[in-house]
Amino acid sequence: MATGVYYSDACLLHDTGDHPESRARLQAVMARLRAADLPGVAFLDAPAADLSLVRTVHSPSYLDRVVRKARQGGGTLDAGDTVVSAGSLEAALHAVGAAVEAAEAVAEGRLGNAFVAVRPPGHHATPSEGMGFCIFNNLAIAARNLLDRGLASRIAVVDFDVHHGNGTQDIFYGDPSVLFFSTHQMPLFPGSGRYSETGRGRGEGYNVNVPLPPGVGDDGYLYVLDQVVGPLLRRYRPDMLLVSAGYDPHWMDPLASMAVTVPGFRQMATRIKDLAAVLCGGKMAWVLEGGYDLRALAAAVEATVRVLAGSDLEVEDPHGVPSGGGGIGLVEGVVSDVRRLHGL
Ligand code: ZN
Repeated sequence: MATGVYYSDACLLHDTGDHPESRARLQAVMARLRAADLPGVAFLDAPAADLSLVRTVHSPSYLDRVVRKARQGGGTLDAGDTVVSAGSLEAALHAVGAAVEAAEAVAEGRLGNAFVAVRPPGHHATPSEGMGFCIFNNLAIAARNLLDRGLASRIAVVDFDVHHGNGTQDIFYGDPSVLFFSTHQMPLFPGSGRYSETGRGRGEGYNVNVPLPPGVGDDGYLYVLDQVVGPLLRRYRPDMLLVSAGYDPHWMDPLASMAVTVPGFRQMATRIKDLAAVLCGGKMAWVLEGGYDLRALAAAVEATVRVLAGSDLEVEDPHGVPSGGGGIGLVEGVVSDVRRLHGL
């Protein structure tokens, strides 16, 4: 079955001006994916999501605020990081629509798996607040839709963006039908994501954070996947996997200080794909979050889509190899604490 790559030109209408989260990111990604001409990959568009879908996760007053800002011709949603332009509502609704459609197509067996190449990103958007370049929480709305439509009953979210996925955490904090895992640099925006944040009420134990010090490279990230994500997902037994795919742990990323390489992202994708194959028939949808070095982002997305489509071709890091990059020594302590806390 094919790997779907979802994209919409409408996502370019979100005009952020001189900003790291620019339309150039998506243009770089799509130019590279189209040039790669990968067998088994279908390029797909999706319609804009209906506002009623957005309301399943976001409050009416927040939605009104976004609509009003876009109609006024633009502004910002938070202290200035999160820009809304006249075209942002249309872009954001297409980003949601693509995530929702990709997740449905995979859950229904129309696609083997999918990668959703959209912007604005989503994982910082909470029910009532856009922040950190995110307007609507694309992945969370896709997850909610799968649950509401009975297409999944246990969804695991793996978020490896270098920033904590605070919005997704907030949305599902009390909900055991979504297991949220995030690994991220700390301290760093948005400041949340301590491992003591484990969920609430019936959702207690279904929120797992692995905050990492700066400098963690490929080995450290793979260690976290092997020691925490693997056992966690094998215990949870999801029927669908959603991935918040942020490529800002890359060693050249201007917004963070990790040391992951493009081949490292490829190995991470392979680990996650192998888990999905064993646990949920390979059903997974990857949704783009951050990643702000254009060449690294485009290469890492190509490497990911190659893995999803079953290609074993290596993709080189356009920037070469980092000089440093800590091994597992940087992460052993926190991994051991998280394993103990969650009984893994
Ligand atoms: Zn990020």
